[in-house]
Amino acid sequence: MRTRITEMLGIQHPVVQGGMQWVGLAELAAAVSNAGGLGILTGLTQPTPEDLLKEIERCRDMTDKPFAVNLTILPTIKPVPYDEYAQAIVSSGVKIVETAGRNPEPYLPMFKQAGIKVIHKCTSIRHSLKAEKIGCDAVSVDGFECAGHPGEDDVTNMILLPLAARRLKIPFLASGGLGDGRGLAAALAMGADGINMGTRFMVTKEAPIHENVKQRMIEATELDTALIYRSLRNTARVFKNSVAEKVVEIESRPGDTKFEDIQSLVQGVKGRELFDGGDLDKGIWSAGMIVGLIDDNPSCEELISRIVKEAEQIISERLSAMVAH
Ligand code: NAD
Repeated sequence: MRTRITEMLGIQHPVVQGGMQWVGLAELAAAVSNAGGLGILTGLTQPTPEDLLKEIERCRDMTDKPFAVNLTILPTIKPVPYDEYAQAIVSSGVKIVETAGRNPEPYLPMFKQAGIKVIHKCTSIRHSLKAEKIGCDAVSVDGFECAGHPGEDDVTNMILLPLAARRLKIPFLASGGLGDGRGLAAALAMGADGINMGTRFMVTKEAPIHENVKQRMIEATELDTALIYRSLRNTARVFKNSVAEKVVEIESRPGDTKFEDIQSLVQGVKGRELFDGGDLDKGIWSAGMIVGLIDDNPSCEELISRIVKEAEQIISERLSAMVAH
C-alpha cells in the first residue's frame, strides 16, 4: 500500500506503533520497523535524556529501518526536563518524532531545523487544525476508543476521521480502536493515510511485558476498559482491573477529587512493576476498547502482514465487487 504517510516516513506499510509508556522499548520499536511499519520509542520510559540516547542506539543496532521517538507532554508526578529530552532527540539524529499532550509549538523550530518530521497526536479537530497551522507534518487523530488520554470531548473515530479528511490538508493517521484489517480498510476509506496502534502491539511476541498481561488482554472483551481522572480533566482509558475500579469509586464520591487521593494507586512506577512481574492488580495500565478484538499473541511481522493482507483483500475483493457492475 502506498499512502501519503508511507511516502513521508519512508515505510513499507501504513502502520505506526503508538508511543506507549513502559512498552515502547527498542525490542518492540525495532520489531515493528523491521516488519515494515514505523516503530516508536517512548521518550519518557527512559529515566533520563542520556538513557534515551542509549535506547536510540540500542534500537539502531536492531534495525536499519526508520523509527521514531514519542515525547508526551502531560501532567506527571515528578517534573520532566522536556527541553533536555527534546535536545537528546535532535542530537540523536532520529528523523521522526511523535508528540502528544500539550501543544508542541515550543519544540517545532528545533525539530524542523534538524529535518525532523513531527506527527502530533490530537484528540479533537480543533487541535488537529492547530497542529497543521503551527507546522506539524502530520497528525494522529485519536478517537474516544483509544487507550491512554482521549481528551474530554468523547468523540469517536467514526466522526473524527471524516471530519479530519474534510478539514486537514496534511496527512493523518487514525488512532484508537484499530487492530485488524477491517479497521485499516475502514480508516483508509474514511480519509486516513494509515493507522496508529498501541494496545494491539502490546499483545505481540516482542512487546516487553509479562505474559499474564497479554493473556488477560486476549481474554478481555470490549467492555473491559475504564475511564479514570475524569474529575481532574486528564481522562485516561485504562484496563478495568480492581485498581481502576477503586479509582473510579473514589472519583465518584461527593465533593472534588484531588490527585493526591488517587496518586498512590495510579503512579506510573506501579504500572511498570505490573508489566514486569505480571501481578494484574499492582497498578493501572493503559488499554483501549480494541482489547475486545484481540485474540492472539503474534509476532509484529505476523500481525502487520496479516492486517495489510486483510485490508487489501477487503478493498480489492469485497468492496470492489460491490461497485463492479
Ligand atoms: P506519572 O507516574 O507521573 O503519573 C501517573 C498518571 O497520573 C499519568 O497518567 C499522569 O498523567 C497522571 N497525573 C500525574 N500528575 C497528575 C496531576 N497533578 N493531575 C492529574 N493527573 C496527573 O506518569 P507515568 O505513568 O510515568 O507516565 C509518564 C507520562 O506518560 C505522563 O505524561 C503520562 O500522562 C503519559 N502516559 C501516556 C499514556 C497514553 O496516553 N498512551 C499512557 C501512560 C502514560
